[in-house]
Amino acid sequence: MEKELKEADFYKQKRSKMVECLLCSHRCLINEGGVGICRARKNINGKLFSLVYGQAVAMNLDPIEKKPLYHFLPGSDTLSFGTLGCNFHCQNCHNYQISQAEVDTDNSFTSPAEIIEMAVNTKASSISYTYNEPTIFFEYALETMKLAQAKGLKNVWVSNGYISKKALKELLPYLDAINIDLKSMDKDFYQKVCGAKPGPIIDNIKYLSKSKVHLEITTLIIPTLTDSLPNLKKIAKFIAGLNRDIPWHISRFSPEISWKLKELPPTNEWKMEKAHKAGRDVGLKYVYSSFGEENTRCPKCGQVNIKRFYYDVERSDDQGKCRRCGQDLKMIL
Ligand code: SF4
Repeated sequence: MEKELKEADFYKQKRSKMVECLLCSHRCLINEGGVGICRARKNINGKLFSLVYGQAVAMNLDPIEKKPLYHFLPGSDTLSFGTLGCNFHCQNCHNYQISQAEVDTDNSFTSPAEIIEMAVNTKASSISYTYNEPTIFFEYALETMKLAQAKGLKNVWVSNGYISKKALKELLPYLDAINIDLKSMDKDFYQKVCGAKPGPIIDNIKYLSKSKVHLEITTLIIPTLTDSLPNLKKIAKFIAGLNRDIPWHISRFSPEISWKLKELPPTNEWKMEKAHKAGRDVGLKYVYSSFGEENTRCPKCGQVNIKRFYYDVERSDDQGKCRRCGQDLKMIL
């Protein structure tokens, strides 16, 4: 199929052919010929274009647990893809080969219809917009999501949560589940390590927690940067204040796969346990740790209803309810 540059949604024309992109909370002002912070949107003659529409990279059939989503279609496969570019520049990024790569438009074109065809052929239950921040390929994602929904496929975002409220609202009717990365509640950390602010992410999490979209949250425990007990308690308290049923994933930092921060050690077991305890102490019902509890236990009687070993899933729940006491495990099946 022929390549095309797609005019962007969500931007305003300003004086002297400058544009303001309104897609994410950076609200980049872009001069003619320039690109935004994400490098995925370019001002051409006073109009903003997406450079990544149709430019899918890293197309894989993944277990949904890898996103991670533990309470959404457990044990299913999700067709996952991303593009080049990102609106964050997280020094801890594991996908930096694509997220921080130069955005070029020379990749082969994959239309939204072709992605749906692949999902159907691979018997995926959902499509995941992941690997880099899906906000920056909004037009591509949205068109694919509309087609997916019409085919009965679910749509999943793995996001840094920096999307503008206006764009998020347009997305919502087509979005089934989202995992948002909440790294810290600390402004300095977000500024220094990611080049962003936590405020818009926190607002979007609040907004999503009141929507029909299934929400899970992930926090990466980075030694010396996000592993302080006050930070972990603050995050846990924030999530519990929204809804104690929201699953919280605590993940381990690995310097060898990190973009930068190579000098830091991997997160140790003790710190992971501390984070897990912070979640349980504020009453979160589902706290998962990549260095400990990965099973889904009934929050009422403690029965293990879903056993996980890496991405192997063994279910013994009764259609999303505890097989021993009947408690609702807040699963989307
Ligand atoms: S989507 Fe890209 S161009 Fe638009 S505001 Fe965000 S970083 Fe800037």
